[in-house]
Amino acid sequence: MERLVDTRARPLRSLRLSVTDRCNLRCAYCMPEEEYAWLGRDTLLTFEELHRLARRFQALGVNRLRLTGGEPLLRRELHVLVRLLAGLGLADLALTTNGLLLAEQAQALKAAGLGRLTVSLDTLRPGTFKQLTRRDRLEDVLRGIGAASDVGFGPELKLDTVVLAGVNDDELIDLLAFARERRAEVRFIEYMDVGGATRWSRSQVVSRQQILQTIERANGRAEPLPGRGSEPAERFRLADGTTFGIIASTTAPFCGACDRARLAANGTLLLCLYASQGLDLRTPLRAGVSDEALDGLIRGAWLGRTARGAEDRLALEGLRGPSRALDELRRAPLLEMHTRGG
Ligand code: SAM
Ligand code: SF4
Repeated sequence: MERLVDTRARPLRSLRLSVTDRCNLRCAYCMPEEEYAWLGRDTLLTFEELHRLARRFQALGVNRLRLTGGEPLLRRELHVLVRLLAGLGLADLALTTNGLLLAEQAQALKAAGLGRLTVSLDTLRPGTFKQLTRRDRLEDVLRGIGAASDVGFGPELKLDTVVLAGVNDDELIDLLAFARERRAEVRFIEYMDVGGATRWSRSQVVSRQQILQTIERANGRAEPLPGRGSEPAERFRLADGTTFGIIASTTAPFCGACDRARLAANGTLLLCLYASQGLDLRTPLRAGVSDEALDGLIRGAWLGRTARGAEDRLALEGLRGPSRALDELRRAPLLEMHTRGG
């Protein structure tokens, strides 16, 4: 296996594979608009194509893979893809989902070899859920989380919460307690000005520091845990043993340790969540390119990688607003968080 490093000496280690740009929620921080431009169905990579690309990335150093979207559980027969990918023997095979369809699929995903599961859960209040996602489906998410614990995802279960001022920032302690009861771990995420977050404003961001203050005020000191490595989340432990994470991409970016490539569902390789451009791998793939040539394309992209999107955004400080205008997103849907695979 190669050890590729980019221009900032960052190795290629992890891959986020988006399997669809479709979603069954409309989260205010991700898809606030009424209308979207979708990727053409025939441009979505097949399971065989996704598997082949995952193998090439593995040969170039990737040992952690996460399936995402859009909502990945909308992709029909997803467990079949999971089984194919599990056969690669990667150190980590994970999935991020909004949980709506999880109750029906948890068993099949576990049986197919999925290692870890992250469910997005921003609130425990049905009214807030409906306001935030434009769908009245909190019950389904909670059933999904229950099913995931029942089939044995247990300690490998994470709950991701985007914290928004005035929306769910009064629920941090309840979410911690909810997770503790299910032996899951919450990760509080700062609201990011990614493409798609067209309503982003600095005033709605609840910072890492504010999140920690709220938790420590209620639960006592949160001790930082060592061993973060290239993980986006900083982890903490409370006196009662509860652990939680904070992902502070907005106020304390971790670009310097970012070892992550992303593949949009149409086979576009993106080297940063904020990247304006990607590299089309679908066209060569469908033209019958050899493994060596595919490796060359990926290798070349990674060697030239300079990405530091979140740091660049932070440098704007007071001038910060949504990173992409709506008309730009309409013209180039790949700039959307839900299309490139958040
Ligand atoms: N649909 C799945 C889900 O929601 O878990 C997977 C895709 S979603 C784009 C992946 C993650 O991105 C979710 O945890 C979501 O909360 C997060 N996300 C989306 N927009 C965000 C934003 N503006 N700031 C921070 N996190 C965001
Ligand atoms: Fe919400 Fe995930 Fe769908 Fe975005 S892709 S609207 S975060 S469920």
